[in-house]
Amino acid sequence: MEKKQFQAESTRLLEMMIHSIYTQKEIFLRELISNASDAIDKIYYRSLTDDQLVFDKDNYFIKISVDKAARELTITDTGIGMTAEELENNLGVIAKSGSLAFKKENDAKDGYNIIGQFGVGFYSAFMVADVVTVTSKALGADTGYKWQSSGTDGYTIEPYAKDEVGTTITLKIKENTEEERYDEFLEEYRLKAIIKKYSDFIRYPIKMDVTKHQPKEGSDSEFEEVQEEQTVNSMVPIWRKNKNELTDEDYEQFYVSKHYGFDKPLAHVHVSADGAVVYQAILYIPESIPFDYYSKEYEKGLELYANGVLIMNKCADLLPDYFSFVKGMVDSESLSLNISREMLQHDRQLKLIAKNISSKIKGQLQSMQKNEREKYEKFYEAFGRQLKYGVYSDFGTHKDTLQDLLMFYSSKEKKLVTLAEYVERMPEDQKYIYYATGESNERIEKLPQTELVSDKGYEILYFTEDIDEFAIKMLRTYKDKEFRSVSSADLGIEPDEQDKAADAENEDNQELFAYMKSLLEGKVASVKASKRLKSHPVCLSTEGDVTIEMEKVLNAMPN
Ligand code: ADP
Ligand code: MG
Repeated sequence: MEKKQFQAESTRLLEMMIHSIYTQKEIFLRELISNASDAIDKIYYRSLTDDQLVFDKDNYFIKISVDKAARELTITDTGIGMTAEELENNLGVIAKSGSLAFKKENDAKDGYNIIGQFGVGFYSAFMVADVVTVTSKALGADTGYKWQSSGTDGYTIEPYAKDEVGTTITLKIKENTEEERYDEFLEEYRLKAIIKKYSDFIRYPIKMDVTKHQPKEGSDSEFEEVQEEQTVNSMVPIWRKNKNELTDEDYEQFYVSKHYGFDKPLAHVHVSADGAVVYQAILYIPESIPFDYYSKEYEKGLELYANGVLIMNKCADLLPDYFSFVKGMVDSESLSLNISREMLQHDRQLKLIAKNISSKIKGQLQSMQKNEREKYEKFYEAFGRQLKYGVYSDFGTHKDTLQDLLMFYSSKEKKLVTLAEYVERMPEDQKYIYYATGESNERIEKLPQTELVSDKGYEILYFTEDIDEFAIKMLRTYKDKEFRSVSSADLGIEPDEQDKAADAENEDNQELFAYMKSLLEGKVASVKASKRLKSHPVCLSTEGDVTIEMEKVLNAMPN
């Protein structure tokens, strides 16, 4: 029989598959099941326009079977099947070279990564199999065909007697080597777990013969093994279900089963969008900080599904950095399974989804802030710093998204307050939003600089984290009110009789102050009498934009 050669690009991909050092070989099953599901979809679509064809959902399924002795794993579907020509064109040639966008890969390691994260399709079978045999009968065809290949040296196609329309793919599973184990792909429990993990939400039943131990007939003590056909996948993904049918517990269960975290999420958002972009998402706000959260090791991202099939574990493009703590998944029908990472980054649909998701997260946080303040405080304690970094980064372009989510400790309320609450309470004559910086609330409370502002009855926000003042400098204003440090020389408080007295004292003591300044040579810009002090003899204040606290942070930064 004539051996046909693969197209050059296919050979390259095949080589990568065969020699793949990629550890997640298990994804081959996801690929083959998703192809089977696509093939059934095609019959379904055909039936929408073809009166002769009746789509009875019960007749369509995917079946996985194992022959351990022969080392064979078989995936059978009742889909649309392939003609000889289609076998040739679809399996010998890479039609959509989306997954090959990485063929220019400079970095082999990254290349392997992409294999794991994106559908590489049919050829992934060669990660686990020496020989791949496809028998298929197309809908409406008289006869079936058999396609067979054992790798890069080509493939054969020949007629094959097949009664049922559909496709059967048989993998001859590789022998274990010293480095790699393949036996697991012949184990029931392992296959079940892989299907659960990647294909649980496939819309058609994935059936498998499962071994059961049951009491032997007529005996209480003896057991026998029987084979029972089971449907392994649940078929309806939780995100496609109606919110009203789901309980908090369902969402928590999903969070745990997906290993999003080991904590109990503080809140979840279930999005079902069918506007400009169609997608479903379940997003979680975790309760506690992942141990590596504020380190370089932490990887943000959401799980990405294309039409029910998992294509990526952590799609970073779906989340802005300031919401990097969010966990969850997104499923969209508008995405292709074989989209590469590079293409994904420029995908218009994905950008729209990301934007949409961001506003949903903000909405959830705002409602928590308003209605469940204690919960929000818990969240803010864990992730508030990330929000402030968000305000600070990119020159404050995220200001509108984030400013309402910020909270600071208030001198008046003795708890965290929002900027909106602060501004709401401002007396009419108060010009600025005042803040004081220090190591802790207790220390700030004792700062001499706070006295004058407090005595005027104005509220002061306490900044105890390094990032606070930097973030606020990016905001510059909130609701048109400028921020002002209590140690600023100009507090915008009307001079009263006492200030005039201070001016007079400055006049009278010019020589003394000049002498004091000369003693503090280079350390202070001027020495002045001040009436802002009540119980303290002296305090430092700043004239420029950079406060003493900011200078400390800047000086501590590595160059
Ligand atoms: P993709 O699924 O992205 O098109 P694959 O490499 O997974 O890429 O599959 C290549 C093509 O082979 C499919 O587009 C389809 O036409 C055909 N094919 C693969 N598996 C099956 C199947 N089980 N039934 C029918 N056609 C199939
Ligand atoms: Mg495919």
